[in-house]
Amino acid sequence: MKFSTKAIHVGQGADPTHGATIIPIVQTSTYTQDGLGDHKGYEYARTGNPTRTALQECLASLENAKHGLCFASGLAATHAVTTLLSSGDHVICGDDVYGGTYRIFQLVMTRFGLTFSFVDMTDPKRVADAIRPNTKLIWLETPTNPLLTIYDLPAIMQIAKSKGIITAVDNTFASPYLQNPLDLGADLVVHSTTKYIGGHSDVVGGAILTNNDKYHETLKYHQNAVGAVPGPFDCWLVLRGLKTLGIRMRQHCENAMKVAQFLKTQPTVENVRYPGLPEHPQHDLAKRQMRGFGGMVTFNVKGGLPAVQRLLGRTKLFSLAESLGGVESLIGHPASMTHGSIPKEQRDARGITDGLVRLSVGIEDVDDLIADLSQALAGATVAQTTTTRVPAQC
Ligand SMILES: *Cc1c(COP(=O)(O)O)cnc(C)c1O
Repeated sequence: MKFSTKAIHVGQGADPTHGATIIPIVQTSTYTQDGLGDHKGYEYARTGNPTRTALQECLASLENAKHGLCFASGLAATHAVTTLLSSGDHVICGDDVYGGTYRIFQLVMTRFGLTFSFVDMTDPKRVADAIRPNTKLIWLETPTNPLLTIYDLPAIMQIAKSKGIITAVDNTFASPYLQNPLDLGADLVVHSTTKYIGGHSDVVGGAILTNNDKYHETLKYHQNAVGAVPGPFDCWLVLRGLKTLGIRMRQHCENAMKVAQFLKTQPTVENVRYPGLPEHPQHDLAKRQMRGFGGMVTFNVKGGLPAVQRLLGRTKLFSLAESLGGVESLIGHPASMTHGSIPKEQRDARGITDGLVRLSVGIEDVDDLIADLSQALAGATVAQTTTTRVPAQC
């Protein structure tokens, strides 16, 4: 079966009780047993729920995985991966990751005896150099957030495998439609289903997919023991979004490419980053390991923070908001929003400067999106007296 057929059918047969064509929202906390130990596979809803099972099976199929586990959020899934580790273990993490990933690793998990090295993985040799005797996990995102750098998955996975180190790839930005890290050698794939997979900015969720029976059993044990599980309605919303993931991603890619090409022509814009542009430093690598370049575009506005503030206050279709991957276009300022929990010196060193703007290009008509950016950029460069408030980080 191919991608969109799997997205619409796997795990989603007609309900045996009433024949409902669409998976029901099984809103229950417990399950009546016919006798002691005699049940239909479910005892308590933290441990398992049929709506969640359907989503887990469907997501696993889309990442070519044997096993899937869903969580209450992407960060709950990230946290679950750390339950494969023990105090004293060392983790190598890409140095351009979601701000919340940095926060849970560096500001939370270090208190429990884990240590982290944040490494620029554009040269896989730096990953090899960072390995210590107690390195147990390599974690990365590609394309990275927010700079859209592409890391060489097969090369990094190979380095990890030769040392017996677990690898986890946060595939949120690409979605399983554009990239399948397990096929490129990763042990675990992590998703924030809040983003492209859900696709409609109406639900928060996360998932881990793997082919490794041992890791799956440990993660499943902790999913139940810790309890950060998604509710059945949330699972149902993600499943509903998932059905159109393929068709949405095709439009996101097409629109983002046109927006990136438009931004390149703008005198007030510098440094447009989009993996689909031939001048992107890893464009060839992106072509090798991805089936499309995604819906995210970042760029720098000339004039720094004041110009950014004016731009953010002027777009009408691009909403100023956290998050990404929905059908509607969003505009954001990584330095104060998604990456606000990273100290400023580190942000600047990594290129997450005050002038950097991130777009999540939606699937509206691209002519309207370009017109909106065009008028907002024109206004942003004319000095204004009013100031726009930059929202606090979440
Ligand atoms: C949003 C996001 C997360 C965190 O997911 P939540 O669902 O918000 O907890 C992790 N990784 C990436 C790349 C994200 O964009």
